[in-house]
Amino acid sequence: MTAQDPRTKFSSEKIPKQEQPLPGLQTKLDPKPDCGEETYQGYGRLTDYKMLVTGGDSAIGRAAAIAYAKEGADVAINYLPAEEEDAEEVKNVIEAAGRKAVLIPGDLRDEQFNYELVEKAYNELGGLDNVTLVAGHQQYHDDIKGFTTEAFVETFETNVYPIFWTVQKALDYLQPGATITTTSSIQGYKPNPILHDYAASKAAIISLTKSLSEELADKGIRVNCVAPGPFWSPLQISGGQPTSKIPEFGQNTPLGRPGQPVELSGIYVHLAAEESSYTTGQVYGVTGGGQIN
Ligand code: NAD
Ligand code: MG
Repeated sequence: MTAQDPRTKFSSEKIPKQEQPLPGLQTKLDPKPDCGEETYQGYGRLTDYKMLVTGGDSAIGRAAAIAYAKEGADVAINYLPAEEEDAEEVKNVIEAAGRKAVLIPGDLRDEQFNYELVEKAYNELGGLDNVTLVAGHQQYHDDIKGFTTEAFVETFETNVYPIFWTVQKALDYLQPGATITTTSSIQGYKPNPILHDYAASKAAIISLTKSLSEELADKGIRVNCVAPGPFWSPLQISGGQPTSKIPEFGQNTPLGRPGQPVELSGIYVHLAAEESSYTTGQVYGVTGGGQIN
């Protein structure tokens, strides 16, 4: 395979304006994001691993779930019940790769559900080697007065609290060599004022990744974080961005286009695989060139 120009590997055309209610569905997105359904090639880097992916129905979480399966892992995915249609598509791709798919719908804002989710994933997969936390909530507001207490609470309850709850339960099962992968954002470093609560929650995820990695190193468990830049996904058109910004979404990056979720697949795989055995407490930017530091 020859190297491809990163500027033209995927489209930099204007995206049609569109809106969906929460949660946005990938099946209704135009154009469809590339989550590696056809394009990701596995090389057996996770043979027989057991993985749990939150937000695994669509976009970034879907890309991680599909890549894990194509690398040989059995995968449980969590998503909201309203996203069943998207989740069924992912299940089909995982099964077509010859691996087991476990679907566990439910709301991560419910503390008890988090414990049940991890327990069910462990029981149905017959083990647990990695927890990949991708689920997230992003709603923009024009100015600080638009950010209600309810908005802040919902953002933190979705983006931050489930890290505590899932990790606490997963420690009943994870063995030395296991990994936890979180998902922050370039917003955790460069906060946009229309996303005060979201950006703060993504900064919290970076901090938690580092403190958890310090604590869990003693157990032989590695914890790392992926910080994406602008990726084409349902999150953006269901209140994540003003609709007026959708056509040019991602075009102000150095590479001049939005990312496609499959361009994150390799880093999620790397952070769960043996090849990254000396890596913990790190944040990986995949941003189209935007700086994280
Ligand atoms: P997405 O809409 O496909 O994924 C978000 C997922 O979060 C949904 O599929 C849904 O299953 C899950 N979710 C939301 N609320 C939930 C709840 N209460 N309970 C259970 N699940 C819930 O969009 P995406 O862009 O792939 O987002 C995935 C992650 O990537 C998010 O954490 C997001 O913050 C992060 N991220 C996205 C971008 C981007 O540009 N798309 C950039 C940086 C970070
Ligand atoms: Mg979804």
